[in-house]
Amino acid sequence: MPASYYRFGLTGYPLGHSLSPLLHRAALSSFHLEGEYQLFPVAPDDPEGLAALLRSLRQGTLQGLNITIPHKQTVIPLLDELSSTAESIGAVNTVLLKENRLIGDNTDAPGFWTDIRVSLSSSQAPLPWPVSQGGKGEGRRRGVVLGAGGAARAVVYALLTHGWDVTLAVRRADVGQAKDLIDSFQNIRADADLDSILLEKDPMAAKMGGVQWIINATPLGMSPEVDQCPWPDDLPFPDGAFVYDVVYNPRETVLVRRARAAGLAAVTGLGMLVEQAALSFKIWTGHAPDRNVMLSAVEV
Ligand code: NAP
Repeated sequence: MPASYYRFGLTGYPLGHSLSPLLHRAALSSFHLEGEYQLFPVAPDDPEGLAALLRSLRQGTLQGLNITIPHKQTVIPLLDELSSTAESIGAVNTVLLKENRLIGDNTDAPGFWTDIRVSLSSSQAPLPWPVSQGGKGEGRRRGVVLGAGGAARAVVYALLTHGWDVTLAVRRADVGQAKDLIDSFQNIRADADLDSILLEKDPMAAKMGGVQWIINATPLGMSPEVDQCPWPDDLPFPDGAFVYDVVYNPRETVLVRRARAAGLAAVTGLGMLVEQAALSFKIWTGHAPDRNVMLSAVEV
């Protein structure tokens, strides 16, 4: 049953930079719905703080909760059920109460893909290739994903499920996060080619042939460290590749600036942020908000 007053929120730590309240308030107001979206900072060493927020959902004091770093995985044992996307990715960014069960979902992966499919295809950065499925043999497409953390897991899941092969470029190949990601994504697609290399000039140069998409999923370049760039200084971009930076603050990162200067189409991740928020809002309220209304609320 629709609530007469919606209370949504975001938990994570730190949350100072979050644009989510602006996005969700714009969505609420576009449907003339009464409600609020609050920030609930919960430190990594405060499991009781996280548990208390989930109790608020169970009790109906909150109608929806977004989860960000560092709780996207630690929240899982506190939930009753996961969507198949959240289960495959191993991370939750959206929680709702349905029939007295707390359900964890992940809208980062579909948000990323929707941004590519809908927003970018039609607007500022026409893609150099069709966004249809990849394929076997000559039609295969490879993306290089920089990083292997939470955002990388969502991006890699989206790429694999849409037929792409993926190479992770990371500080520590074959161990830690990269190994975990590759191990846990083995069953996503039987014919997928998923491997990892070091995020350094020589191993990357050797792997760039035929790469059509580069996605930064590290925080490098994010405010306030806006001068950082994850792409090695002296490594040319692959010809015709499309560059997507999940970092959305600043609006043009050094990576995107360098890619554009090299003649490539490149965008930052504000569209993904809007899409994942819109999908969470739909899960909680049943209403699909107008993306442009949400985007206008955060564009300055
Ligand atoms: P995370 O889980 O902490 O993962 C960060 C990844 O970046 C790790 O693989 C880490 O590798 C790597 N990394 C960090 N510093 C590095 C460096 N100096 N050189 C090379 N690799 C480095 O963080 P996350 O949740 O994935 O978030 C990453 C970024 O994505 C953040 O800026 C976040 O705001 C953004 N994001 C955007 C959206 C959106 O909607 N647009 C959604 C989610 C996240 P190590 O293991 O070696 O440290």
